Amino acid sequence: MRTVYLNGDYLPEDEAKVSIFDRGFLMADGVYEVTSVLDGKLLDFDGHAVRLQRSLDELDIRHPSSKEDLLEVHRELVRLNDITDGMIYLQITRGNPGDRDFAYPAPDTAPTVVLFTQSKPGLADSPAARQGIKVISIPDQRWGRRDIKTVQLLYPSMGKMMAKAAGCDDAWMVEDDVVTEGTSNNAYIVKGNTIITRQLGHEILQGITRAAVLRFAREAQMKVEERPFTIAEALAADEAFVTSATTFVMPVVEMDGQPVGTGKPGPVAARLREIYLDESRKAAI
Ligand code: PMP
Repeated sequence: MRTVYLNGDYLPEDEAKVSIFDRGFLMADGVYEVTSVLDGKLLDFDGHAVRLQRSLDELDIRHPSSKEDLLEVHRELVRLNDITDGMIYLQITRGNPGDRDFAYPAPDTAPTVVLFTQSKPGLADSPAARQGIKVISIPDQRWGRRDIKTVQLLYPSMGKMMAKAAGCDDAWMVEDDVVTEGTSNNAYIVKGNTIITRQLGHEILQGITRAAVLRFAREAQMKVEERPFTIAEALAADEAFVTSATTFVMPVVEMDGQPVGTGKPGPVAARLREIYLDESRKAAI
């Protein structure tokens, strides 16, 4: 049984209980982060901590603990649960006002803080990375502030189920004829030596992996264009891939039933995955 963290306490998972009045439960009024663990160390903890602060600020949720305290909780959970490879899920909600009301509760209402681990042995060595994944395109029907990492994940869940029903692995979401992002990852295409991915804005999440991968790509003298692209452009591209904290760089080999590029994982995605994993392991804490 796992040991999880709830509001200052380390508890067996079946003893960690949250109120039915919690705003996270009633209103999806909460934010989250997922940090990967490789060889018992945290990848890009700083990036996740900074984005967490930003999500909380955008929603006027009080940050209940310092970055240093959060780091300690992450490390303690890795230790208590003996995690070699896996991830740590963190969620902070606006807390429990003791009743249901649309208005935010008094600012001194304590936020709810939950963290738990998921063990994934061999996380960095997934067969999917060698084979590539298949995606479908679906309309992006999420709300307009996707830059805030909220726990309202119903549409992304529906998207994954639509992909599954079509015999695929994931969905790319399309709005105004251009791709926003994957259901739980940022989306890229490669044409020649150029990597193309949508620019940041309210329409997508500013992926922590995205920032690192674009930095490594530029350092490796690849060209990066941050701009919108269509599914038609993706189908005519040499390669496509997605990035996220738990899948790193993952090649996309098929889209809406048609092969992307050669229909096999491409060299740019493979190289970026290798650089990302090498550099992230080196910098892990
Ligand atoms: N976009 C969405 C919608 C996501 O849910 C995620 C993963 N949380 C990402 C992008 C990738 O972000 P990160 O690299 O920080 O995991």
